Amino acid sequence: MVVELRDGLVYAQRFEAHQQTGWLSAGLIDLQVNGFAGHDLNGPTLTVETVHQLALAMLRCGVTTFLPTLITASEAQLTQALAVIAQARREVPLVARMAPYVHVEGPAVAPEDGPRGAHPAAHVRPPSIEEFHRWQAASDGVVGMVTLSPHWPETPEYVAALVAAGVHVALGHTDASTQQIKAAVDAGARLSTHLGNGSHARINRQRNPIWTQLAEDRLCASFIADGHHLGSDALKVMLRAKGLERALIVSDATAIGGMPPGRYNASIGGPVHLSPEGRLSPNDGTGEYLAGAALPMLAGVATLVRQAGLSLKDALMLATVNPGRWVGGRGSLAVGQPADLVRFEFDPADSAAARVTGVWLGGRPMV
Ligand SMILES: [Zn+2]
Repeated sequence: MVVELRDGLVYAQRFEAHQQTGWLSAGLIDLQVNGFAGHDLNGPTLTVETVHQLALAMLRCGVTTFLPTLITASEAQLTQALAVIAQARREVPLVARMAPYVHVEGPAVAPEDGPRGAHPAAHVRPPSIEEFHRWQAASDGVVGMVTLSPHWPETPEYVAALVAAGVHVALGHTDASTQQIKAAVDAGARLSTHLGNGSHARINRQRNPIWTQLAEDRLCASFIADGHHLGSDALKVMLRAKGLERALIVSDATAIGGMPPGRYNASIGGPVHLSPEGRLSPNDGTGEYLAGAALPMLAGVATLVRQAGLSLKDALMLATVNPGRWVGGRGSLAVGQPADLVRFEFDPADSAAARVTGVWLGGRPMV
């Protein structure tokens, strides 16, 4: 058995007891999950059973903590979905354990094509502290992270109110100016959501929101490391600029994630096509934009090794300890921590073959 130690934490070890070979890590932590394996949080009628099934699907991917993520929708739909997730947390102990809070991405994103991404234009609106309080009132205060574009004039006041309420604020889907980004960070925003995406396809080489967010050391950043949202060079350079300590990966998976390749009608993005390589694109024939992500977290870990040149240990840090800081310090293998574990096979020479072979939640075998 080989054990790697870093800062007193076991990040990964070769596991050869009981004729089983593989790597053992803290369970993966995904801060952005819109759905997976057909279970859709952003559909018109969310149910407790859908949330429960999504949690089970996450476990099968080696994810032991995730943030159910709701994107831009009408206030009525958002509030209803939040209430259902809160109900799922009350009624299903597994959901309460795995999903500590909800990430609301929107509805105050950039209105224009490009940075808005697949968020529906009809429901984009300015940030509203009053609406935020109505979300919380309807859902036992289940919202714990909100992503917005900081170009809205209401941003500093909104960010300060949410931070005062103990809610993390992230920046994303934006074409905001340097001054607008700085103002949001001064007010307490601390994370960039899937940095490098949710952007115009063509931007000013000197002045753009990506440079500003990379240069702002008070911001951590999430990245979609699926091999489609960021090219190898962009991913490698952004990780170096942000620093591994401030970086984390998310799946940003939609309900089509984990499904067979083919054409689907998605609640995010409408008619879409899923390629055999896990690229999810709109059926608009341009191929310029993506319609969400479809690969699970372990594939992201493999991408970090294959395309960004990270060691497996560092790649796991971006999928466990670093996202764990946003959910109360989960994600480390250490004495006294809950035994949320994932065992997986991983061959650096064939990272596409990464495969989960066992999952434990609080020491209990789940997969
Ligand atoms: Zn997004």
